[in-house]
Amino acid sequence: MSDGKQLTIHEAHRLLADRQVSSVELTRAALERIDKIEPSVRAVVTVTGEMAMEQARAADQRIASGNGNPLCGIPVLIKDVISTRGVRTTCSSKMLENYVPPYDATVMERLSGCGAVMVGKTNMDEFAMGSSTENSAFFVTHNPWDLGRVPGGSSGGSAAAVAAGEAIYALGSDTGGSIRQPASFCSVTGLKPTYGRVSRYGLVAFASSLDQIGPLTSDVTDAALVLNAISGFDRRDSTSVPLPVTDYTCGLNGDIKGLRLGVPGEYFVEGMQEEVIRAIQAAIARLEGLGAVIDWEVSLPSTPYALAVYYIIAPSEASANLARYDGVKYGFSYQDADSMWRAMEKTRQYGFGPEVKRRIMLGTYALSAGYYDAWYLKAQKVRTLIRREFDRAFESYDALITPTSPTVPFKIGEKVDDPLQMYLSDVCTLPINIAGLPAISIPAGFADGLPIGLQIIGKPFDEETILKIAHAYQQATDWHKMRPGI
Ligand code: GLN
Repeated sequence: MSDGKQLTIHEAHRLLADRQVSSVELTRAALERIDKIEPSVRAVVTVTGEMAMEQARAADQRIASGNGNPLCGIPVLIKDVISTRGVRTTCSSKMLENYVPPYDATVMERLSGCGAVMVGKTNMDEFAMGSSTENSAFFVTHNPWDLGRVPGGSSGGSAAAVAAGEAIYALGSDTGGSIRQPASFCSVTGLKPTYGRVSRYGLVAFASSLDQIGPLTSDVTDAALVLNAISGFDRRDSTSVPLPVTDYTCGLNGDIKGLRLGVPGEYFVEGMQEEVIRAIQAAIARLEGLGAVIDWEVSLPSTPYALAVYYIIAPSEASANLARYDGVKYGFSYQDADSMWRAMEKTRQYGFGPEVKRRIMLGTYALSAGYYDAWYLKAQKVRTLIRREFDRAFESYDALITPTSPTVPFKIGEKVDDPLQMYLSDVCTLPINIAGLPAISIPAGFADGLPIGLQIIGKPFDEETILKIAHAYQQATDWHKMRPGI
């Protein structure tokens, strides 16, 4: 965890188990790294140093008494949209700047049960709306590969922190690409599980039918280890699915011979950077070399509608979810108003940033009486078409392979004044949320020193296969081992 080599979870676990290092030492190293790197990267909103040291001491005791959990004693950073009992959870919004949840999200309970050590909460686009962290009400996170560029978003803080070694892994959330696109931009591994695989209880809601929590890690083995810990049925989330959770590390054996992989042409969108296309083609050829059977000519014709569908459904759900921020129930409350309505208006005027307001307005419009059928209902129908196309494709293929993002990380400020350009960052990732599928982004090369990510999309609840493919690729390549020289 020092400035030199950064440890993975499985490496750190080995060292802890062999007593070559203690959790207290790992945690102190993470906190020192945070101290040193934060002035330039700015990935972390809240550092929980004292609490972390306490958790580390407890973890060391557990390890001494033979606790073999692979996450025990290992420092993690949590996206600030996941509720943490007693620790401020801001969603990078002025609305929740001083909000301290009285309870833990289910994923936090599960991580604590494993003996994880939380070193802090990470920066994000406000309420997870954005692709660059530039919508954070607090500050912009910088990409550790090039400090003048964005780390992606909305889980940009989590991705940048893992890339820069501020923690060994992080949790993010993904509504339309918010784990995978920043993973691509920061050259780390990012997994969005199947909708329903991981409990959303305690995840501050953006768009409830799309949101899913997942890990950002240094490699695929780590992603599997974190998924083992956080997934599974939770009676407090009625959309979590009561399917058994397998050990996701079991299938990581490098053997992808005969797996059928489809490459949907629609994902190579207009305006996609040449270097991205070339890197993805090379990565696919690599998978072919490992024995996978590639079909380069898959078509998912409804793909071009996904962006429009997403930007109706996500804001509609957001407008309903964010109605709770009325100055009474949660967070910021404007006090100097002469009526209740005025207080609510002022609370929202000050508490929400421009992108959040834009989404609330879009969603309210799409759901309003005269327009509901034309917008929201139509979008839901197209959503079904998109999902069916994937179902059909998965009759012939074990997984689909695409780029994660059409571009390498862009410059800070480059897209802030053009929301549509910003929305296009997620063309390759949004359809997967619309269909509720699992997908992983893994490092697949660089263009002029800037990271490129490969996306592998799986059948519902078949995280095993995409992890297997991603792992086989990482066995055969070194992209994921490269680290920014920061
Ligand atoms: N960038 C997309 C948006 O702004 C996706 C965000 C997300 O996945 N949370 O909505």
